[in-house]
Amino acid sequence: MSRGWGSLFDIDTDPEDLLEHFDTEWFRGQRYRHLSDERHGVERGTALVGDVIVRGYPSMPRALVLEPAIRETFDGPVAIEEKLNGYNVRVARIDGDLLAFTRSGFVCPYTTRKVEALLDAEAFFDDHPEQMLCGELVGPENPYTDHDYSEVDEVGFYVFGIRHRETGTPMGVERRLDRCTTYGLDSVGHYGTFTPTAAVDAARERIDDLNARGREGVVLKSADGETALKYTTSTIHRADLEHAFELPFDYRRDFVFTRVIREAFQAVERGESPAAVRERARELGEAILEPAVETVRAVDAGDPVGETHTVRGDPRTIDDLLSYFHDQGLELHVEHDETDGDQRVVTFTKIAQSTRDKTRYYLEGGTIDE
Ligand code: ATP
Ligand code: MG
Repeated sequence: MSRGWGSLFDIDTDPEDLLEHFDTEWFRGQRYRHLSDERHGVERGTALVGDVIVRGYPSMPRALVLEPAIRETFDGPVAIEEKLNGYNVRVARIDGDLLAFTRSGFVCPYTTRKVEALLDAEAFFDDHPEQMLCGELVGPENPYTDHDYSEVDEVGFYVFGIRHRETGTPMGVERRLDRCTTYGLDSVGHYGTFTPTAAVDAARERIDDLNARGREGVVLKSADGETALKYTTSTIHRADLEHAFELPFDYRRDFVFTRVIREAFQAVERGESPAAVRERARELGEAILEPAVETVRAVDAGDPVGETHTVRGDPRTIDDLLSYFHDQGLELHVEHDETDGDQRVVTFTKIAQSTRDKTRYYLEGGTIDE
């Protein structure tokens, strides 16, 4: 057993037991391992590259009703930040190379290349070699999410955490913001630090503004960065539902239930009038039914259904990404594949196999026991 893994195994468990749950993968000819589900208190997404441990980014609780949740969660200053809607990426420098890990601990070839191009992080890692940058990758050209931000043309990486890669200990909020400024790293929006009581109104105001601008929500954090609480806008609940009902048989049913429940509690906390609740209900219903109808029609017409993304990069990176998806068992339908200067630009659909197959089955007369 390598000495470097000591801190993982401080957790009261048999090392062999834990290691058994890691999957082996390869990146640029190097073997690494990652944990795709939380085990024995070690976060999902924890990766082992040679001797180096890269801890997963922890899951955070969500508030359904802001006021009591803030009161219960925090007993000191509360920092409020924007919650961006992209995908979680951890960046570590290992043996001189930047590696970008997705939430479940894969080294994504596309993200790694984008991060190399986007980030000028050499000075940061020279001074903080044991830290990792945790951030959200957002923008229209990425292979995982499709939320648009007017400030991002292609892709952007916004830091929301700096953590010790081996222990996962976060840097405090103020220091992290200061590090981002010093090293020229983009940070998620920071709205200030408040007492818990003042944080309630501040968060509500931010949510109203973010909601109006079609953005996702806020994350509240204790000054040491250890405690976090998320809360999201109605706009994003509807966008999630639209997305899920576009591919109704590929999302778990609780995905839908949780969004509807968030809307219910939000309406109550805001003391909405019957008319406002009716409007919320109408919008919710549209978000559910319209995309589902479109999808059934698309399958009926023989069109591919699934999530469509566009990616851009040097041809090798794009090749690597497409084979990485094939290795994960995804079926891709390529819509466009073109060259722009020395870059390859590909638009593809990740085929939603369950939605396609079940929809077809019902359209052809398949029945259902319910
Ligand atoms: P979970 O927190 O249970 O893992 P999840 O994976 O569904 O939930 P989200 O509901 O999107 O994720 O919420 C947590 C994620 O929000 C983080 O993992 C991170 O990727 C993202 N995020 C965006 N902005 C921030 C921010 N300012 N601070 C922390 N996380 C943020
Ligand atoms: Mg998210």
